[in-house]
Amino acid sequence: MSSDLFNTSEHEVFRDTVRKFAEEELAPRAREFDEMGRIDKSLFKRMGDLGLLGLRYDPEWGGSGLDWSFSTVLFEELGRCDNAGVTMGISVQTDMATPSLHQFGSDDLKAQYLAPAIAGEMVAAIAVTEPDAGSDVAGIKTRAVRDGDDWVINGSKIYITNAATADWLCLLAVTDPDAGYGGFTQIVVPTDAPGFRYDLLDKIGNWGSDTGQLFFEDLRVPIANTIGDIGRGFQQQMMQFQDERLVACVSTVAGSKRLWERTKEYCEQRVLFGKPLSKMQVTQFKFVEMLTQLTAARELTYACVRKRVAGEDATQEISMAKIFCGRTSRMVADECIQLHGGYGYMKDCVAGRAFVDSRLVSIGGGADETMIHYLAKMLGF
Ligand SMILES: Cc1cc2nc3c(=O)[nH]c(=O)nc-3n(C[C@H](O)[C@H](O)[C@H](O)COP(=O)(O)OP(=O)(O)OC[C@H]3O[C@@H](n4cnc5c(N)ncnc54)[C@H](O)[C@@H]3O)c2cc1C
Repeated sequence: MSSDLFNTSEHEVFRDTVRKFAEEELAPRAREFDEMGRIDKSLFKRMGDLGLLGLRYDPEWGGSGLDWSFSTVLFEELGRCDNAGVTMGISVQTDMATPSLHQFGSDDLKAQYLAPAIAGEMVAAIAVTEPDAGSDVAGIKTRAVRDGDDWVINGSKIYITNAATADWLCLLAVTDPDAGYGGFTQIVVPTDAPGFRYDLLDKIGNWGSDTGQLFFEDLRVPIANTIGDIGRGFQQQMMQFQDERLVACVSTVAGSKRLWERTKEYCEQRVLFGKPLSKMQVTQFKFVEMLTQLTAARELTYACVRKRVAGEDATQEISMAKIFCGRTSRMVADECIQLHGGYGYMKDCVAGRAFVDSRLVSIGGGADETMIHYLAKMLGF
């Protein structure tokens, strides 16, 4: 196991803090969050108090000034909460909706929206996907038109995580339809602004987070809510996607490893034909195959983290890891549900839940085919 980067005494202390939080405060409430269909908002405040929501961010805004190795430990341990929806809602806050604001936002905007998000006093969402444009990000139509000192926003976004919980959105909008890739802008949109509404969507998995369709009708926000430069939104969002995809890899591998462990425990106790299921050679082979794939997925993810910690571009590796981790988690969930037999098909079985939850990884944040399309381009095809 190549865990050198993640094994200093500082990492271990941090790992213990997160593990305790996940096991004692999240895991016992896993079913409750599913029934609520969202995370209890007070958990964000609790995580803010524990210093978990701005690990890589500047201390000036309440962050910890750490690197991706600590974000890795955070999501490896949050995997113990046994609720992929909850992990997803948290990762939207830490790694999907806030990186652009941290990197490109003005000090005023950071004081107003980033600092409270790091403190857990505000919840954020990332609003990119639209009913007619998901994989083809440049095909979005939500329009922001300048009117004096305001943007006037009209349009709709779909499949947005934290839709009902969010206090603000990192919105990608078209600001100049004739400017190609230079015609998009990222804008902070507070969800209490007149002209905003949402409808919740009914998902097959990830029940612990709320997902919805958002509507913007003549919604006004100050031009000062622009993140970075007007017209640079597409490029900024592509950078922000790198954090989104990397955190997806880390949480997916951690969740799958947890599922592997719990399924092993189950097979050690489940007696069939006079002996534990784990004593059958075919079962042992399955566990070894799964762990082999999981170890490869984890090492590929660690390679991405190492590059990020070294300040290097990891776009290619992250795209590959996203494909590999998604497929591995699907394979592991499929084997684990099978090993649980009929119980695996029950809603309260971890394997059954993982079976539907893991399916998202190969779709959300850029489908496998989108990753392959980028990789083919990067490789010169
Ligand atoms: C539970 C959930 C939560 C989500 N949370 C968010 C969120 O918080 N914010 C947000 O903005 N979005 C979110 N999404 C949206 C997600 O990122 C999109 O669903 C995803 O990017 C795919 O877009 P699409 O659904 O429009 O599929 P489409 O773009 O219609 O793609 C359909 C299929 O086409 C195939 N395909 C894609 N590209 C290519 C290609 N180049 N060549 C060949 N085939 C291809 C793939 O198989 C793909 O699955 C979420 C989605 C879900 C399900």
